[in-house]
Amino acid sequence: MNARPLLNRRLDGLGTTIFAEMSALATATGAINLGQGFPDTDGPEEIREAAVRALREGRGNQYPPGPGIPELRAAISDHQRRFYDLSLDPDTEVLVTAGATEAIAATLLALLEPGDEVIAFEPFYDSYAACIAMAGAKRVPLTLRAPSFRPDLDELRSKITPRTRLLLLNTPHNPTGTVLTAEEQSAIAALAVEHDLLVVTDEVYEHLAFDDAVHVPIATFPGMRERTVSISSAGKTFSFTGWKVGWAMAAAPLIAAVRTAKQYLTYVSAGPFQYAIAEALRLPDAYFDGFRADLRRKRDLLGDGLRAAGFDVHQPQGTYFITTDITPFGEKDAYAFCRTLPERCGVVAIPNSVFYDDPEAGRSQVRFTFCKQDDVLQEAAGRLLRLAS
Ligand SMILES: *Cc1c(COP(=O)(O)O)cnc(C)c1O
Repeated sequence: MNARPLLNRRLDGLGTTIFAEMSALATATGAINLGQGFPDTDGPEEIREAAVRALREGRGNQYPPGPGIPELRAAISDHQRRFYDLSLDPDTEVLVTAGATEAIAATLLALLEPGDEVIAFEPFYDSYAACIAMAGAKRVPLTLRAPSFRPDLDELRSKITPRTRLLLLNTPHNPTGTVLTAEEQSAIAALAVEHDLLVVTDEVYEHLAFDDAVHVPIATFPGMRERTVSISSAGKTFSFTGWKVGWAMAAAPLIAAVRTAKQYLTYVSAGPFQYAIAEALRLPDAYFDGFRADLRRKRDLLGDGLRAAGFDVHQPQGTYFITTDITPFGEKDAYAFCRTLPERCGVVAIPNSVFYDDPEAGRSQVRFTFCKQDDVLQEAAGRLLRLAS
């Protein structure tokens, strides 16, 4: 074999995801896994049954249409009108994907040229870095700094160069729980218009904004409709993360571009599940309100436990994650802390430090998920109390 490394240089440094590493540690040690964000109970029974029905009736068992089944595209369009007063043509402005993950990949592969710069919040969801790299583009982080984790809009302005092609947003933001305010989004939108930038927004936690925080898609702001690709997914909203039904929404020329890339990634996916999610999106408001109230309660349950154990807790406004700081324990390396946490307490968490380019910015931050059953959260909180003694 010649000496050339097998992994191409674009993927350098993208080894194994932290979730695989920490979930393996959870399995090996029998620890409670508050690392990876997936619920430990399935979503609504009637939606599960809708999938079974579709499968039995032979709907979606063969390749569904490339853009997604018409029923689901119509339901996505109606959902955007119902919650955000946004109108989308289901035939040309909606594209069904294999989860938000594929929507992100297809969008970035379609819209970026090698050498383009993409400004993204850090800490960032790990697939952003990978997809920007696969597109041959350059990631330019805008650091959300503790304790507020708000974006510094002057810093954003200073990072825009003639090579900047795209702003990649995520709100509600994983892992910090920041929900962008109308003022922040309005300022970001004005910069995008002024510099003629595309905006891609990951809104998978759209139904998990708590307290006074309100999620508003940036596509509703002036000048944004024609330059924004909005991405969401059924996984988080309906607690069916394994179904991998997601979607991209944008003006027709943008969707046509994204579809070009998407058709050579998976082509299509999740046939029968698409029928079920079409029903899920039409669930009454009570479902969405109940889901949010339940998760807010779980946030407080875990948050109280983490505070009692001695963590410095950053109260999240959204998502199903809590970012904490381990400095009160006299520790400062989140990665080392997470490596030993299973043996010290029987709990697995994720070091936020791996989601930063700036290693100092997130060095002492540890993320816990609260999308678990109450007794699991209580048991984890009890175990973490060992840190306090
Ligand atoms: C979970 C998650 C995704 C992936 O969504 P899928 O629909 O499972 O592909 C994308 N973005 C963020 C911020 C997430 O937390």
